Amino acid sequence: MIDLWVWSAGAGGRDDFSRPRSPSGRAGLRRIAAAEPCAGGSGGCVIAAAPYRCERCGDRWSVSHTGAMIAVARAALPVGVDIETRRERPAAFALLQRLTGTRVRDIERWTQCEALLKARGQAHRRPGPGDLPLLPEWVPGWQPSSDRAWWVHTDPGAELIVSVAVASGAGPAPRLRLRGMPVPD
Ligand SMILES: [Zn+2]
Repeated sequence: MIDLWVWSAGAGGRDDFSRPRSPSGRAGLRRIAAAEPCAGGSGGCVIAAAPYRCERCGDRWSVSHTGAMIAVARAALPVGVDIETRRERPAAFALLQRLTGTRVRDIERWTQCEALLKARGQAHRRPGPGDLPLLPEWVPGWQPSSDRAWWVHTDPGAELIVSVAVASGAGPAPRLRLRGMPVPD
């Protein structure tokens, strides 16, 4: 089971200098985690610094944001999430493809790559050959990684694209549970 929350934290809010508020993904993650049931005890999951793992139940958490949109994922196994607005980034796609040898031609594949790098704990270093074991073509919904060590779920929305990667544990594709809006600030 993977829990996935996607919501807008900005809602047109402006700060004292009339700048659009930039949501803090980490704050959103902690707020949701604290409100969720935790096998380690009452009071929800307790998340320290990245990689986000509950100190009490051991569940894995991941967060991504683009503009005002935030996505948070929770799973028992290593998990990564990425959310992007629909746009072409040909230079970035080409660079990632050159570094890893994995085909990157569109934003859907880009979100798969980002989610997988996060799940593998490699989000903060330059990726290299073999770091993105993905099948040649992405598909909507679940698909396995080429090495079968991961499941990747992609939702190619008209404006927002969300991918989640989770360790397969040699099991079938997990159920993805879309959750409602989290508790407000
Ligand atoms: Zn927990």
